[in-house]
Amino acid sequence: MSDAVAIGDGIFQITVPMSHNPLGSTLVYAMESPNGVVLVDSGWDGDEGWEGLTDGLESMGHSISDVEGVVLTHFHPDHTGLCGRVREASGAWIAMHEDDHEMFRLMTSGHTPEWLDEQIENIRRAGASESDCDAYRAASVLKPPARPESAPDRTLSGGQVIALTGGRTLRVVFTPGHTPGHACFHLEDADVMFTGDHVLQKTTPHVGNFIFPLEERDSLAEFLDSLTRVQSMGVTRGLGAHGLPITDLPGRAKELVEHHEERLDHLYEAFGDDEITVWQVAERMKWYRGWDAFAPLMRGMAVSEAAAHLRHLVTRGQVIQVPGSDPARFARV
Ligand SMILES: [Zn+2]
Ligand SMILES: [Zn+2]
Repeated sequence: MSDAVAIGDGIFQITVPMSHNPLGSTLVYAMESPNGVVLVDSGWDGDEGWEGLTDGLESMGHSISDVEGVVLTHFHPDHTGLCGRVREASGAWIAMHEDDHEMFRLMTSGHTPEWLDEQIENIRRAGASESDCDAYRAASVLKPPARPESAPDRTLSGGQVIALTGGRTLRVVFTPGHTPGHACFHLEDADVMFTGDHVLQKTTPHVGNFIFPLEERDSLAEFLDSLTRVQSMGVTRGLGAHGLPITDLPGRAKELVEHHEERLDHLYEAFGDDEITVWQVAERMKWYRGWDAFAPLMRGMAVSEAAAHLRHLVTRGQVIQVPGSDPARFARV
């Protein structure tokens, strides 16, 4: 039995395990609300996660049926997975920012053979070789649609307020970047913000563009803007969904901005005088481990991260797409 940890200001932290994932767990936060308990995120769908969540609530003196609502920071499955089961057991409402609703629908609609063909065509447009495409296909797993009952039934937007017990409030802070509709939640009377995957104590959140060669959306620009917004709010403490509490939230947000500025500079240098595809951009970027060590699906994630940085260099006018190139190539201006 894993107990919820009372971390002050009426906040309980529940560790919801996902042992298959290198992150190990999702941290769910619970607070008393007028009709029971409100949760921030729900954790990965699975029996070990369900046990972690229900045990945690019981150690607070509540049962799963007391959950009044779940506010979701974003659509990723380690945050939304258990929502359906929570709703079944409690009738809770589920709220998420409007800009992640469509992503949630896509994520839960299953991986069909047609879906896989589209993925392969997509990485081909990025400049993947035949053998890269074959390796990606071999590593991919098809899966049926997820439970539809986990879909959010409430829509959040920036500035909106969620009522907690005793007149306390959680305010929605719109922080797109990690996903199009990522939101943080500011517990206004306690100088603390629930940061989801937007700001993490140790990990650098993934920021990607997933449609190649370049998306309209500049997700890195959104992410950097959102970090600046969080920094300027002057909230001291951050509680992320993974890792330790953040004791200096503005400082950590600034560090993440600097990290991406460095990567952008490094990428610009790595171009030299060459014309290169998105795939080659990824090969030339600096990673924690060498490009050769990435498994095929990890390469897909790395290419999306590279594309987001490339997209931002185009926004900044430092790089252009070479006219008429197929697959698209890019060069310094
Ligand atoms: Zn995430
Ligand atoms: Zn996460």
